[in-house]
Amino acid sequence: MRKEIELIDSHIHATGIDFLNYYTPRIPSTHSLKETISEISEGGISKAVIFPFPGTLYYNPTKILKFGSWEPSGLEDFPYQVENSSLLREIKIENADSFFFPFLAFDPKEKVLEQCEYLRLERQFFGIKIHTLATRSTPSDVDDRLLSIVEEKDIPIIFHTGKQENTKADLVVTFAKHHPNIRVGLAHLAGFDKAILEKVACLPNLYIDTSPLVSLCYFAQNKGLRERYLSSRIVELDYGDVIDVVLNLYSLIGSKLIWGTDAPFGSFSDKSGKLVVNFSYKDEVAILNKLLKAGYVDVVRQIAGQNIKEFIFGKQAI
Ligand SMILES: [Zn+2]
Repeated sequence: MRKEIELIDSHIHATGIDFLNYYTPRIPSTHSLKETISEISEGGISKAVIFPFPGTLYYNPTKILKFGSWEPSGLEDFPYQVENSSLLREIKIENADSFFFPFLAFDPKEKVLEQCEYLRLERQFFGIKIHTLATRSTPSDVDDRLLSIVEEKDIPIIFHTGKQENTKADLVVTFAKHHPNIRVGLAHLAGFDKAILEKVACLPNLYIDTSPLVSLCYFAQNKGLRERYLSSRIVELDYGDVIDVVLNLYSLIGSKLIWGTDAPFGSFSDKSGKLVVNFSYKDEVAILNKLLKAGYVDVVRQIAGQNIKEFIFGKQAI
């Protein structure tokens, strides 16, 4: 039964080094493609949407860490030039095309023309990832130059969401409302924000990923972590029971809910060097296995299969 189901992870980071994490120092700062392939294979996952790490060496890490100023390093002509091309190159070298749907990282506030020229020429990607925190941007910074590429290629854009003003999930909802022809992804369950989850259910072009669900449920059960990482308008669920959380989210969001792990960020430390959570890829995959064991085969087929394909390719393409 388990082997017959094609399972997809909608949110993984790999290749390269996140230099800001490396020098802060904070883990994780890297995740090799080989390690990623092993993890997903051992977990019985067939494919994964894969992004580079959030940071880019277009900006000089010394200036950021020492002075808080964001200046070009001279190492790249435009943001994510090396990070994106390395991701695609490593997938080729490892002969791993069948494992991945690469999404390329984009900075909507810097050298947009140059990034768009690169995207127009590159064919080996399936979507765009905008890390609003790492790029200090909001979804409304995305202009027509990127939008026209996204519409032409008929690919989705996924946005990081979090607690900082520019990363708030309602900005992604507004973007999805303004662009009904574009498939939009909202990462990290909007910190379980009740109002946002309800809005996602009503917007046909907006999808929400569960990454990293085990960690998010852990945060929800701890007052300090909840305040630090989750919404202040959290939906009432039994967060001690991850399966119950998935089933409740599925009944609310249905075809718009997509399973993702955010690997390797299921284990990360804060700026003081303290490990905040320490979950593994296996812990995230265990959710799907528990659901299958309990007979929720259709739920798994949707959230880790059909829904993700619809997000990537559009409903009419499947
Ligand atoms: Zn992520």
